[in-house]
Amino acid sequence: MDDRTHSPIPKPNPPLARCLSGAVRHDWTRTEIAALFDLPFPDLIFHAQRIHRLHFDPREVQISTLLSIKTGGCPEDCAYCPQSAHHHAGVKADKLMEVGAVLDEARAAKAAGASRFCMGAAWRSPKDRDLDQVCAMVEGVRALGLETCATLGMLTAPQAARLKNAGLDYYNHNLDTSPEFYGEIISTRIYQDRLDTLDHVRAAGIHVCCGGIVGMGEGRQDRIGMIATLASLPAHPESVPINLLVRVEGTPLAREAAFDPLEFVRTVAVARIAMPASVVRLSAGREDMSEETQALCFLAGANSIFHGPKLLTTPNPARERDIALLDKLGLVPMR
Ligand code: SF4
Repeated sequence: MDDRTHSPIPKPNPPLARCLSGAVRHDWTRTEIAALFDLPFPDLIFHAQRIHRLHFDPREVQISTLLSIKTGGCPEDCAYCPQSAHHHAGVKADKLMEVGAVLDEARAAKAAGASRFCMGAAWRSPKDRDLDQVCAMVEGVRALGLETCATLGMLTAPQAARLKNAGLDYYNHNLDTSPEFYGEIISTRIYQDRLDTLDHVRAAGIHVCCGGIVGMGEGRQDRIGMIATLASLPAHPESVPINLLVRVEGTPLAREAAFDPLEFVRTVAVARIAMPASVVRLSAGREDMSEETQALCFLAGANSIFHGPKLLTTPNPARERDIALLDKLGLVPMR
């Protein structure tokens, strides 16, 4: 008998079959997400890749560039962040960049292949006068033919509406981790603050970029809680960044143990399955990842990266290294 007639993929039992249908659902339970994490690794990767192909061209990778338009001195105390004024990571507090300088960076990003330009400011929330300048940046970047994204902290509903009017396509605002673990990482705001800003952004008609960070000392139950929360939002974030903690000297998480790369790949795969039509982005932490781990992440359904030598204040792989890796894997920038 020809062995190839036997499917090597075990048939999922009925409750799991619902989770693996590839349909966009908003009623995910933690039990279901936990069952995905518990799948044997080959089954998990197979289903993540299969579902990925239902919604995306598996060869395409969306490329974004992130620029820090206002660095350091942030009043928030996020334990992972070198820009917090509460920590001693040696990041100098700068003023908001001039519009012209931001547009020069956007032109360079476009020339290097980026399709989206993200602007990050280390604020708890923007002041209205700062927003005038940010809106001018958004208009200018959009006029260059790039998609625009900003991450500026918490927004009120009128601030979100102003950004939308300026032409903002995406707003990044991460949930970071599970609701239960959030207080271990940040004390200057609460989970509900994040959800409120996400509501304002969504109501303004801006696409949502929202994900989290793994490797902060959380347990798998927290990664489950984070993905269950994201996948149960009324609309899934269009972009879901999955960050690996960058352990920066001078931050409270500098001494965290290195995170298991295969558990990172599992987290990416579960995010892909739970939010099948969202772009899943490999964000911070790629500098410390092997090519093999990144390749597994792409196989698990990641289809976006940040491109450029720096992610706000932490290192990111050089552009040439990324291009070489995409070439090696036969991947191409998303149109
Ligand atoms: S992650 Fe953002 S809000 Fe938190 S300290 Fe850093 S810049 Fe501030």
